[in-house]
Amino acid sequence: MSLPILILDQHALNPRVGYILHRRWVQPYESLVGLLWKFARANRLAGHFLIKQLRSNPLDPYVGLRPADIEVPVVARLLGVTQRSVREGTDMAALDASRFLRYCPSCMSLGYHGVVHQRERHEQCPIHRVPLLATCRHCGEASAYHLDAQLLEAPFRCRHCRQTYGSHLPPLLRCKGLSRERRVAVTRAAIG
Ligand SMILES: [Zn+2]
Ligand SMILES: [Zn+2]
Repeated sequence: MSLPILILDQHALNPRVGYILHRRWVQPYESLVGLLWKFARANRLAGHFLIKQLRSNPLDPYVGLRPADIEVPVVARLLGVTQRSVREGTDMAALDASRFLRYCPSCMSLGYHGVVHQRERHEQCPIHRVPLLATCRHCGEASAYHLDAQLLEAPFRCRHCRQTYGSHLPPLLRCKGLSRERRVAVTRAAIG
């Protein structure tokens, strides 16, 4: 006997039911982009669909929006995380936040992108002590730190060439999260 194949129409799904983001996947001072990438991967959501869930009023997913322009309560409800996690992830108070994605390749392999990585005062990853990068190692392009369909379509990968920023895609479903030592390191860098 063959099992029925469940076909889901993403546009018919109610974002308030059924989507998952495991609490153990949410790390301290994780960027909003990191959270959305995990959420997109875990739920196999298309970027253009996810973008439209970040505000209550309609917006063009290909134009997108700045992280500062999301509606915090709407995004917190969507992801099932606290408003505080979302606010931390947008890092609005940081005056030196880059307009381009900055990252640590080793953290990308772990499935972590933190607000600390975006701050230009930091040249090194607080966890791995390696220089932070602002361009793709494969195609050399920078990625605008702007929430749009193209960015969310490529979790932990370059929006231009789609190669992974780390050495491999993070193993989401087996993700144990950062160790205590690493959580302390990013927290110290974020609030220090
Ligand atoms: Zn790192
Ligand atoms: Zn690239």
